[in-house]
Amino acid sequence: MEDVKALTEKLLDTQKNAASVMTAEEIKKADAYSEGYKDFLFRCKTERECVSFAEKAAQANGFVPFDKSKKYAPGDKVYFVNRAKAIVLCIIGKNSLTEGVKIVAAHIDSPRVDLKQNPLYEDNELAYFKTHYYGGIKKYQWTARPLSLHGVVMLKNGEKVEVNIGEDEGDPRFVISDLLPHLARNQMSKKANEVVTGEELNILIGSRPFKSDEGSELVKLNVMSILNEKYGMTNSDFLTAELEAVPAGTVDDIGFDRSMIGGYGHDDRVCSYPALTAMFECENPDNTVLCVLTDKEEIGSEGNTGLKSAYMAYFIADLARMQGIQAHDILSKSECLSADVNAAFDPTFAGVYEKNNASFINKGIVMTKYTGAGGKSGTSDASAEFVSKMRTLFDSNGVIWQAGELGKVDEGGGGTVAKYIANLDVDVVDVGVPVLSMHAPYEVISKIDLFMAHKAFEAFFKS
Ligand code: MN
Ligand code: MN
Repeated sequence: MEDVKALTEKLLDTQKNAASVMTAEEIKKADAYSEGYKDFLFRCKTERECVSFAEKAAQANGFVPFDKSKKYAPGDKVYFVNRAKAIVLCIIGKNSLTEGVKIVAAHIDSPRVDLKQNPLYEDNELAYFKTHYYGGIKKYQWTARPLSLHGVVMLKNGEKVEVNIGEDEGDPRFVISDLLPHLARNQMSKKANEVVTGEELNILIGSRPFKSDEGSELVKLNVMSILNEKYGMTNSDFLTAELEAVPAGTVDDIGFDRSMIGGYGHDDRVCSYPALTAMFECENPDNTVLCVLTDKEEIGSEGNTGLKSAYMAYFIADLARMQGIQAHDILSKSECLSADVNAAFDPTFAGVYEKNNASFINKGIVMTKYTGAGGKSGTSDASAEFVSKMRTLFDSNGVIWQAGELGKVDEGGGGTVAKYIANLDVDVVDVGVPVLSMHAPYEVISKIDLFMAHKAFEAFFKS
């Protein structure tokens, strides 16, 4: 009779914490890799900043701007920037494009608080910006914390001015005020989604009036005069601006053991960065490989920089024309890892998870067969065959991975870009890093899981 311990190990293969199965050397590698990511996460707090980082890194790694009239040879590295908010990197493979391409797609937009088009106002001698939040946030989490301002202003003369204020030491910061508990009896009895309303997310930006004996709204005037001096803008230039308020501050190691990273915007820069670094590890791939860093996922992949638009398919059509074939001949044979985060099991809020099917911090990257809500509505649901192919790939390349779905059935739900890529007749499955406090101004991930994302994407590109 076989002993129960051996049989259990063989048949019930439960997953251990990655830190207890990895070698000390590999854990060291994961920690070292994380330092590069921390720097990226601190410097890239908007989709535009991510694109500019990715473009510079691509150039440094031998990528050149894609020219659709040119013919490229195997090993050539090209990139294409879509309206400063999305980027596609591509390395031409040795195989014909009729073999399909391998895509890793991640999004670089994160939940935040955007300025309205006419944001500046004064109320009781305090100056504020009106805002309109972007993506799924708990609004109350955004008050009483330091904020920075990032984005662009298009001046009347067509000049583009870049804004990034509140990150550097010595920079001023901004804040949304909250009600003191002493006077919050009414507020505290409201439902969480009404505690702070959208129209109460007003950012405090100044309090000193312009020195003058006449005129009104002198605090507003004073702020505008500072902005004019610094950026050359007038009030109407806000109409042609995109300014995003995000949490100001650092990216930090979390825990006495420094095993985790806390910061703003892990979703989904924690998958975007490994997608980039995996691309840079790839030389002369067999199949053509694509890294797509896209915008607007947090609001449903809308617009011409989101993946509901045709920009990625057009890029592939341009590649197809180069080899005298049709785009669908490539797409139908292509494979994609939709690189996006999943909710890590949180013991404090265990009730919303179904433990047998949740993802956990330090158990590696999570493969999510389907997302969606209710009766699997709104998911592309990867096939068992494709999931199996990825399982074999990960297992044979030392990638520690786990399976996971977002939470309990009917507890809520969410989606990714996977279904829009599946619509192009591409095989696709979600693979990403588990996150604690997802969509909060300060999210937490594990360094080991991050490193496994890099290893997974590298193995995929090289397969
Ligand atoms: Mn995401
Ligand atoms: Mn998200």
